[in-house]
Amino acid sequence: TFITFEGPEGAGKTTIIHMVQQKLIQEGYNIVLTREPGGIRIAEQIREIILNPSNTEMDARTEALLYAAARRQHLVEKVIPELNKGNIVLCDRFIDSSLAYQGNARGIGVEDIFAINQFAIEQTMPQATLYFDIEPEVGLERINKGRKDEINRLDLESLDFHYKVRDGYLSLLSEFPERIRRIDANQSVEKVCEEAYKQIKLILK
Ligand code: C5P
Ligand code: MG
Repeated sequence: TFITFEGPEGAGKTTIIHMVQQKLIQEGYNIVLTREPGGIRIAEQIREIILNPSNTEMDARTEALLYAAARRQHLVEKVIPELNKGNIVLCDRFIDSSLAYQGNARGIGVEDIFAINQFAIEQTMPQATLYFDIEPEVGLERINKGRKDEINRLDLESLDFHYKVRDGYLSLLSEFPERIRRIDANQSVEKVCEEAYKQIKLILK
């Protein structure tokens, strides 16, 4: 089973995905946790190029292609083999990030981003996606206060950009109501974790 975690900056995806993984492992599930862009050596190298704050001249379509390239390599090298072993794969970001960030916020258009990603992923789509919804101000505030693990090029974007990211996700949510489940990330970490865990249990049934 392939499950992806999505949402704007500061929604808490990374924290929650680790907490949920721990809970499920204790129950005996075979869980593989991974992330995008990254998860394997080549994709982590691509991530460095994309997110490097000095790469200010990066063209939006180049960026979109790099995300798709990282996605492709991560999928064939890690996600698909793990799924074939019968493991549950939880992935921090996947195609919906590209649709929301590059398609909507960068203004390339969701159709074009979908097309290059279809080339990259062929048939492999997640069975389910947990979307962690948060107001951009609240998310950015959390990031500014807490974690500063990695300064990246996205830190330079305007609030307007982050609103477009969220709008992009909300459109996807209404377009794919079967696959994408919204979780209110404005709640406490405990509450968000509990909801994510419940959703995943439903998906695994
Ligand atoms: O998920 P994580 O916070 O590690 O993502 C790293 C950065 O890459 C974030 O700033 C995120 O907004 C950005 N990103 C993006 N387009 C994507 C995926 C991630 O701009 N398709
Ligand atoms: Mg994160």
